[in-house]
Amino acid sequence: MTEFELIQKYFAAQPVSRDDVVLGIGDDAAVLAPPAGKHLVVTTDSMIEGVHFTPETEPESLGYRALAVNLSDLAAMGAEPAWFFLNLTLPKIDETWVEAFCRGMFSLAREFNVQLVGGNTTRGSLSITIEAQGLISEGEAIRRAGAKPGDGIYVTGTLGDAALALRHRLGRHSLPVADYDVLKPRLDRPTPRVREGMALRRIASSAIDVSDGLLADLGHIAEASGVGALVVRDHVPLSETYRRHLHEVGWDHALSGGDDYELLFTAPAHAGRDLQRLLTRFGVGISQIGEMVSGDGVTVIDTAGNPYRPATRGHDHFA
Ligand code: ADP
Ligand code: MG
Repeated sequence: MTEFELIQKYFAAQPVSRDDVVLGIGDDAAVLAPPAGKHLVVTTDSMIEGVHFTPETEPESLGYRALAVNLSDLAAMGAEPAWFFLNLTLPKIDETWVEAFCRGMFSLAREFNVQLVGGNTTRGSLSITIEAQGLISEGEAIRRAGAKPGDGIYVTGTLGDAALALRHRLGRHSLPVADYDVLKPRLDRPTPRVREGMALRRIASSAIDVSDGLLADLGHIAEASGVGALVVRDHVPLSETYRRHLHEVGWDHALSGGDDYELLFTAPAHAGRDLQRLLTRFGVGISQIGEMVSGDGVTVIDTAGNPYRPATRGHDHFA
């Protein structure tokens, strides 16, 4: 199979077709028609074998996850996802692999009506880079800067599940099979909180997605906003499964573990009722975990008000 045949068979014939794609895959470049008055929101993320995933990760998960992490970045801006590009470097053409990869990637593309409109295919060690583009009305993008002292700090879903699953996969902690089965999709198939992010426009004062760990990502909000953050450790939402292992694994996977792809945002106190309404609309939990304060940095306390110091604060590729 040639590069051209691969593109034709697996990428050109794909399931989402949007009216705003004037020209998709097959020419030198794509032609897209964003609606008048909308701004483009653009993001990219790479996944490299050995850095972001282990060689035994299933190709279906890789396809899903490569797109999910990009949609999560769009969600954190409040943008509506529209199109994406795929840059794929493969050691060889293995059709079984490509087919499974596409199954994962396109299942998510279908769910959020995003169309693959181009990319690049080369030979080399396995790496996957997606660039995703979304739309937002002028002035409505939710930034990291914007949090004010007194704003509540909120997070969607639960934290630490992906880190716990990864720890099991790396052989550093052994979970019962049934528990690993529950946590594994949280690592391999994170749900980008796209609808929630869009609904938070005009409500949230700042937002970020939790990819490097709660404290690290909250640190980005605090720094960009020029304020501090106070987190009550015991208010950080845990899944039932995590909670059952809390006494052995502690809080740090939830506080500092990455890969959750939940939304972390701040909102002024008067937004409480809107958040309540959001919560019932999407069926995903929203928990308040603390409050922005004047000063700088992120402080964690336990319910008694004593400072709590986690062993690590988050992920940095060059640390
Ligand atoms: P060019 O040499 O002009 O850059 P290519 O031969 O690389 O064109 O690509 C031909 C078409 O196939 C282009 O529309 C390109 O965007 C698309 N394409 C190539 N690789 C991928 C891929 N992995 N996923 C989606 N589209 C792709
Ligand atoms: Mg060309």
